[in-house]
This record gives sequence, C-alpha cells and structure tokens, in this order.
Amino acid sequence: MAISGECFCGQVSYEISGRLRDARSCHCSRCRKAFSSQASAYALVESDEFQWVRGAQQLTSYVSNAGFGFQFCRNCGSTLCGTFNGEVHGVTLGCINGDPEIEIGYHIYVDSKAVWEVIPAGVTTFGGPLVEASD
Ligand SMILES: [Zn+2]
Ligand SMILES: [Zn+2]
Repeated sequence: MAISGECFCGQVSYEISGRLRDARSCHCSRCRKAFSSQASAYALVESDEFQWVRGAQQLTSYVSNAGFGFQFCRNCGSTLCGTFNGEVHGVTLGCINGDPEIEIGYHIYVDSKAVWEVIPAGVTTFGGPLVEASD
C-alpha cells in the first residue's frame, strides 16, 4: 500500500509509491526552527516515487543555503517535504497518515538540543553528551 501524507488543513496531500529511507531526528537549532518543534522528524524518498495528489497549487517554498528547502501548505502552514535543487528529497514524518513502515533510526546533534527538551532513554543518539562511552 502506498504511503500517503497530508497537511493539517487537508488541502494538500501526496502519495509515495516506494519506501521511505533513513528516518532521523535532528535536534540542531536550525531544524528546531524549520520544524517548529524540538527536533526534525524526516525521512528520505526517491523523487520519482513521490507525487502530489491534491493541492499542489497551494504549496509555497522556502529555499535556504546550498539548494535545500522546504515546501509548505500556504493555507495551514504544515511543512510537507524537503527539497534539494527543486526536487522532493524527503518528507516530514508528522504529515504522514498511518504507518510509513519505518521508525526514526537515530537522533543527531543532541548536544545542540533545546534546554527544555528531554531526550528519551534508549534512543540512538549522536553528537552529544548522551553518547557516553560506558565500555
Ligand atoms: Zn494545509
Ligand atoms: Zn538539524
């Protein structure tokens, strides 16, 4: 079954015919702002396996440095996908409907996490004091 996702207001939706890859959560200050959250929740997709089903005309984009950007619903503000050089590069996990058959595999830049965030025990982390060399 295809993976599907949509924005908060439902005007924009997409479908993915393949599988998601490399789901991760980044806790750096840039991702916190880009995702309006404690961290990103993002997975990669093949651009030719991704298609907008509804509301593509409602999308607006922001491109930051080095060709990376995001696309949002201009009506409700949900961030639906990440782009690289104008092509869909990955999707935000928060907009996915149901089970995308992937879990966040690792957390990065946890040393840059917000002071108010508590990282759950047992998750795989890189880039911070939570990665302790206990033998
Ligand atoms: Zn929307
Ligand atoms: Zn980040």
